[in-house]
Amino acid sequence: MRLHALPESKLRGEGMTSQRARDRLATRLKDEGIGDLRVLEVIRRLPRHLFIDEALASRAYENTALPIGHGQTISQPWVVARMTEALIENGLPERVLEVGTGSGYQAAVLASLGVQVHTVERIEELLRQARRRFRQLGLEVRSRHDDGNLGWSDEAPFDAIILTAAGEGIARQLSEQLKPGGVLVAPVGPSGQQVLWRLRKNEDESLDTEQLGEVSFVPLLGGLA
Ligand code: SAM
Repeated sequence: MRLHALPESKLRGEGMTSQRARDRLATRLKDEGIGDLRVLEVIRRLPRHLFIDEALASRAYENTALPIGHGQTISQPWVVARMTEALIENGLPERVLEVGTGSGYQAAVLASLGVQVHTVERIEELLRQARRRFRQLGLEVRSRHDDGNLGWSDEAPFDAIILTAAGEGIARQLSEQLKPGGVLVAPVGPSGQQVLWRLRKNEDESLDTEQLGEVSFVPLLGGLA
């Protein structure tokens, strides 16, 4: 990870945002079943406190979702880790589409793993802040202000697709933008009854589906904000 354009002290953090706090979070995620060492190492290194408002920075390394404004949240670290593991389990994908940039943290985790990330966000102000963070951290992430239900057809197909907001199902346009052999991970269902799904596209374009457990996400909405 190339880091620049930020004062060293801000990047390093102190007290509740220090490296020790990050180490403790990674240890906790490992204790709670995250087994992929590449994911744990990225979470240990990535300054999550820079992805949230300074007023909440002291809570950045708690294993919890936090508000990022506009009624949205930065996902719980365990969920980010689990979804990332589920996406890269059978090998690191080259090009990934993320729907729901939010704070930019999930995209930054993937980019730090060496994946080429394309991310789409419908709330322009959140996208503007996330882009600033990518620049500050020297992460190359391609991003677009759009309705992620449409995917990113000009850049398709992708080796993997990740949705970080829950829809009622998975839009056909998205599964069509997945390469044969590719994996899509998404929460699906209404509030209180959401399940994390993993879809694998076979060479004949059929889809195998698998449930990975219960989750809680903000809803996938339509249109732009
Ligand atoms: N990946 C984010 C992170 O690491 O902070 C999680 C953000 S939050 C749980 C989900 C995001 O999805 C919100 O920022 C929300 O605005 C966005 N979203 C919801 N519906 C969307 C859509 N149709 N297209 C693009 N983004 C959408």
